[in-house]
Amino acid sequence: MSTDQPVPDDAAEDYATRLREELARATDKVQELQADYDEMLADPAVIQEDRDASALVLEHARRQLEAAQAAVERLDAGDVGRCVKCGGEIGAERLAALVGVTTCVRCA
Ligand SMILES: [Zn+2]
Repeated sequence: MSTDQPVPDDAAEDYATRLREELARATDKVQELQADYDEMLADPAVIQEDRDASALVLEHARRQLEAAQAAVERLDAGDVGRCVKCGGEIGAERLAALVGVTTCVRCA
């Protein structure tokens, strides 16, 4: 067992934990919604309007999943906390409030 691992500060560790939880939750949700949607497609009794509504919900969940995946990638790359538009600091509070946020408050 290695003893020379760097110790992350609490805020960064909290953020990483929250982000990975968010990713797991988003993954589950997309799978669940996808299964529901597939069922609706297979069921001739379901009206198109309901399918469309379900497709929208699924699409929204997919975007959240993509945002969480991108945020985890940025975290792994050590890039969390930097605005993708101006390169400025996003700030710990904004990061904590908006999981997966990629822009600072000025560029939002
Ligand atoms: Zn910015």
